[in-house]
Amino acid sequence: MDAKTVSPAVRARQSRDRLKLLFEEGRPGRRGVDFPPLDVPDAAEAIEPELARDGVEGMPELSEPEVVRHFTRLSMLNYAVDRGLYPLGSCTMKYNPKVNEWAARLPGFARAHPYAPDALSQGSLELIHDLEELLATITGMDAVTLQPAAGAHGELAGIMLIRACLESRGDARKVILVPDSAHGTNPATASFSGYEVEEVPSNAKGCVDLDALRRRVDGTVAALMVTNPNTLGVFEEDIAEIAKILHDAGAMLYMDGANMNAMIGITRPGDAGVDVMHLNLHKTFSTPHGGGGPGAGAVAVKKHLEPFLPVPRVAGTLGAYRLDYDLPQSIGKVRSFYGNFGMFVRAYAYIRALGATGLREAGLTAILNANYLRRALEGVLTLPYASPSYHEVVFADHDLEKETGVKTLDIAKRLMDYGFHPPTVYFPLIVHGALMIEPTETESREELDAFVAAIKAIVEEARTDPELVKTAPHTTPLRRLDETGAARKPKLRFMP
Ligand SMILES: *Cc1c(COP(=O)(O)O)cnc(C)c1O
Repeated sequence: MDAKTVSPAVRARQSRDRLKLLFEEGRPGRRGVDFPPLDVPDAAEAIEPELARDGVEGMPELSEPEVVRHFTRLSMLNYAVDRGLYPLGSCTMKYNPKVNEWAARLPGFARAHPYAPDALSQGSLELIHDLEELLATITGMDAVTLQPAAGAHGELAGIMLIRACLESRGDARKVILVPDSAHGTNPATASFSGYEVEEVPSNAKGCVDLDALRRRVDGTVAALMVTNPNTLGVFEEDIAEIAKILHDAGAMLYMDGANMNAMIGITRPGDAGVDVMHLNLHKTFSTPHGGGGPGAGAVAVKKHLEPFLPVPRVAGTLGAYRLDYDLPQSIGKVRSFYGNFGMFVRAYAYIRALGATGLREAGLTAILNANYLRRALEGVLTLPYASPSYHEVVFADHDLEKETGVKTLDIAKRLMDYGFHPPTVYFPLIVHGALMIEPTETESREELDAFVAAIKAIVEEARTDPELVKTAPHTTPLRRLDETGAARKPKLRFMP
């Protein structure tokens, strides 16, 4: 563990080996594959000589083991949920069961063509139909579209539905309200959709301030977008009252349900009066995510929004499902074809494997794990909100910073030396130096205890050797990065 016990020479060699480019390995003449002699005419002879190249300059020539080792080394530099705890708050980096992958790779699904006629696609259509129904039941909503490709994309579709519905009533409105504890994508979505965005403050409990909401809601407000549980990990306990305040003024309630893993099987947004919400299948329903996709941001709506859902929708009955494009009030398509179908198969497999009791247990365990961490770290880090946690717990750094000068970023970097992926940092913005930790339900008590021990050790180090923490990480191939510089002037070559 101690960085000082590894000699600099050893470290230099390790990092050089790990970070070499393919272009820096190999030798001219080295081959990874041996082709047998051609027993057909050489197609290269058919190419116009001036179009043909006689070689590619600088192409690395490598043996098979060099290639395999290169890519295996690279894959090992990557921290992954298959290697250990990945406590990125708000992101729900839970373990993705491998049975989902088996299901998604069944040839009937994996090789289905999006243009195949309905008659030859009954299995896929049935899966879409049944998954929509399962998600409607889980959320307490009336209808679901699986088309959006991500959570933020689901938000956009959901807000388009609200707009289409209000406009069909001749009641176009201008403003969308967003609490200050919302996920950042919520105000971005509202603004991208052409609405004016107004912020609603949180109260001391970390929930929407109802009086402030009552004062602001009027005939200009189209909707409130609320993240629940919110980015403080706090459940909006007045969600039904929030819905009522909006409905009384002819406005709607949008719920960001990306954190549904803390509610699943326990409570249903539809029962609380939510009009439209999205789910992140790639979080709550364990389809792999990160690195840019693919995702699936299913949108669930109440009856009054159903006529506006994107086309096509799966209609018909078992054995005779079809894709229905004939929906005159639909907002149209929001994604090519039908969405990321492979994600639907994985989410469906997950739901069917767990069943109703298993899903509820997953929800309860997500809450238990977050509260376990909260209890274990209370008094070690600063807890800015006293409300109980749901799926995640948010700490602040100001006490430790005042005492030692060590900040949230330093703790996050030092955690890498202890073999953990850092939690989400500096978000939500309403918490000073936020450390937003979401353990998820798939972690064992031993893994959580190891994480707690690492945080405690780092806080102790902050008191005894603050420089060690402030200059971390010490055991990773690259040390502390200039993050602004990395974004502005990316250096794509590791070694000179
Ligand atoms: C992850 C997340 C989103 C955005 O989802 P993407 O799939 O990344 O677009 C929105 N809201 C909340 C609360 C989230 O956690």
